[in-house]
Amino acid sequence: MTNDAPAKKVRHVLGISGGKDSSSLAIYMRDRVPDMEYFFCDTGAELPETYEYLNRLEAALGKSIVRLNADRDFDHWMEVYQGTLPSPQMRWCTKNLKLKPLEEWVGEDEVISYVAIRADENRLGYVSTKPNIKAVFPFREDGIDRSGVDRILDEAGIGLPDYYEWRTRSGCYFCFFQRKHEWLGLKDRHPDLFDKAVAYEEKVRYRHKAMQGRDYTWTQGESLTELVERREEIEERHKAAMERAAKRAKPNRPLLEVLSNALDEDDDEAGCSVCHL
Ligand code: SF4
Repeated sequence: MTNDAPAKKVRHVLGISGGKDSSSLAIYMRDRVPDMEYFFCDTGAELPETYEYLNRLEAALGKSIVRLNADRDFDHWMEVYQGTLPSPQMRWCTKNLKLKPLEEWVGEDEVISYVAIRADENRLGYVSTKPNIKAVFPFREDGIDRSGVDRILDEAGIGLPDYYEWRTRSGCYFCFFQRKHEWLGLKDRHPDLFDKAVAYEEKVRYRHKAMQGRDYTWTQGESLTELVERREEIEERHKAAMERAAKRAKPNRPLLEVLSNALDEDDDEAGCSVCHL
């Protein structure tokens, strides 16, 4: 008989962002780690297509995806940050609405977190600084790239979330990582959500202009209203970018890849490594 305490159970967790890479990783790990806990951090500002896709994914996994809601919503945090919109330089939304709920959910448990960075990507996923959370990168370790991800989803028969028809990144409807043409997509597909994004922007612009003479917009260099006024120009540029991307693409590559490469001409920043997986 020994006095050793029983080994603490290690939890295996995998965050679904609503995008194709994390969904594909969930399928990939389904039979490899049967006690995997899948979770989704709901910012309260997700696209309807994302919720619909989560249901499809749950059916394919045969398991629920735990929805984690932050205690405080986007509006609360916006007040805490003195009415500023989040931006690539000040990503308070990711920190408070995506990372905090995860860290609270796992508490002090020993955790292995499976992160869906692909083998062909040169970016770091979120790696918690909490010592009890260890990140692993199965796609990177197993050499699975973009076409591998597509194949896994095809074989599982769940396809892609519908928003990929007009936008290539998962996350909030107002995400500031959207490219100009994607904002037009939001206006066309979800005019109510676009109007809500405009309302946030107008409130912030009014408040900050009055206080400091500064201007804040969701997208660089112009307000959403100004962006819509430039619709024709943006659509023409996008059409030309799509033609160039189609010419560059290898034969038989999916339309999504062409769209993604065309949008990258506008802005090829890798997006958020927590929300866009
Ligand atoms: S999707 Fe965009 S706006 Fe939403 S939490 Fe992530 S970075 Fe912020």
